Amino acid sequence: MKYIFVTGGVVSSLGKGLAAAALGTLLERRGLRVTLQKFDPYLNVDPGTLSPFQHGEVYVLSDGAETDLDLGHYERFTSCVLTRSNNVTSGQVYETVLAKERRGDYLGKTVQVIPHVTDEIKGRIVRNAEAQPSDVIITEIGGTTGDIEGLPFLEAIRQFQLEAGTENVVIMHVTLIPYIKAAGELKTKPSQQSIAKLREIGLQPQVLLCRTEWPLDLEIRQKLAMYCNVPLPAVVEVRDVAHTIYELPLTLQEEKLDETVCRALRLETPQADMTDWRRFVERVVQPRKHLKVAVVGKYIDLQDAYKSIYESMTHAGAANDCGVDIVKIDSEDIDHGNAGDFLGSVAGVIVPGGFGDRGVEGKICACRYAREHRIPYLGLCLGMQVATIEFARNVCGLKEANSTEFDEKAGDPVICLLEEQKEVRNKGASMRLGSWPTQLISGTLAQRTYGTDQAVERHRHRYEFNLEYRSLLEKHGFVISGTSPDGHLVEMIEVKDHPWFIACQFHPEFLSKPNSPHPLFKGFVTACLANST
Ligand code: GLN
Repeated sequence: MKYIFVTGGVVSSLGKGLAAAALGTLLERRGLRVTLQKFDPYLNVDPGTLSPFQHGEVYVLSDGAETDLDLGHYERFTSCVLTRSNNVTSGQVYETVLAKERRGDYLGKTVQVIPHVTDEIKGRIVRNAEAQPSDVIITEIGGTTGDIEGLPFLEAIRQFQLEAGTENVVIMHVTLIPYIKAAGELKTKPSQQSIAKLREIGLQPQVLLCRTEWPLDLEIRQKLAMYCNVPLPAVVEVRDVAHTIYELPLTLQEEKLDETVCRALRLETPQADMTDWRRFVERVVQPRKHLKVAVVGKYIDLQDAYKSIYESMTHAGAANDCGVDIVKIDSEDIDHGNAGDFLGSVAGVIVPGGFGDRGVEGKICACRYAREHRIPYLGLCLGMQVATIEFARNVCGLKEANSTEFDEKAGDPVICLLEEQKEVRNKGASMRLGSWPTQLISGTLAQRTYGTDQAVERHRHRYEFNLEYRSLLEKHGFVISGTSPDGHLVEMIEVKDHPWFIACQFHPEFLSKPNSPHPLFKGFVTACLANST
């Protein structure tokens, strides 16, 4: 078993997660079984309780874990299917250590960061490695070198390296080489200092991944190699990708990162075959057609809040040889009167997931516009609930239709908590999370789009379609196209006599990959293309 640790220096947002994922792509294509995990130094037990304003999207795994969005990159860039244990936070580590202390497991010892917290961290590295049979496990350490909260993780890696043997461990440090315009020079000092910080705690990276806006010439590479104490070929240049993040594995391959890492780990493997990946990138970079699709949400200004949706649209676009320009619309800006100004020129509308009532009325208006103007509509989670409310209000005449999330006393609670959920809710576990099967109803657009009778999709929501309204809505042309196998939960809906209107209670965006786009996104883009010609 080989271990790669990815640390970050100088500043945050250097794309450590993507670098780890892209290295995963290359190693997997060298025939290695790879798994990835992220260690986050914050004290939240999981990011499920973090606002998108703080942390971007919450990425949901099949086992229902609410995790950091980097796990989304890991799953999209490799074939791994990750589990709860692949996202470790300080909160989880301390929770375990404190529970052990309360149980008396430490037999009267003073409980300390070293060795008890670091032992718990090392234990998790080993347990994950054992649980997920793989040749290489890539561990990304969140945060930036020098952060106080990251120290126990770095100390744990130091001890781990000693125990596992240096030939089995590679530390890859992602750093920034800033360009100082006034001096016309790239600067290596911040990287030197960041490496010095690592050395202070006994860590010496074997690979330096240099984020830079300009090419690194030989002289600067030599300087970095000398001062940061790494071999010259291990100084890897990573400039901002020109078009898409999916170029990154190709860039890293050109820089021979995978070769350097394999050499350091004494792994003899063939070159990675990137032919299909390169073809995918070409389709993303030079599509033959273009489309504009609106995403109407309330976190629209945040680059990361709907990450998986944007990525899924890129995958689906490439499959249709089409570049998708996302028009981001703040749902608080849109109402029935002005919806046409925002949506008049788009080929399709997506309403993504969300919590709380802010911006919901705007989403309802966007959905109505798409239904009435026969624009393809894809509703995701809240986007399905909104579509149900809209249909009940404006087609069935139930003016007081709403979700009890937004109005507890709604006259017509078409979306509500189910009785059995109310019970669970009192016990604190209220969300339906993770993979659940959906039975697709034959003859529906959903079933044709999937081309199968069953789908397994990831969920993250509390409220459900209220089956008491089923027959009334169906009488008016509302179609329930997917349910739980027992028929109790509505998982997908559509609208009759509309070119393409599908909404689902789950999140298909967590299952789309570059060369295997999710059928719903792929079908949606195909419908948008048909609508725009
Ligand atoms: N707020 C809704 C619910 O809890 C939808 C959640 C979501 O879109 N992820 O049911």
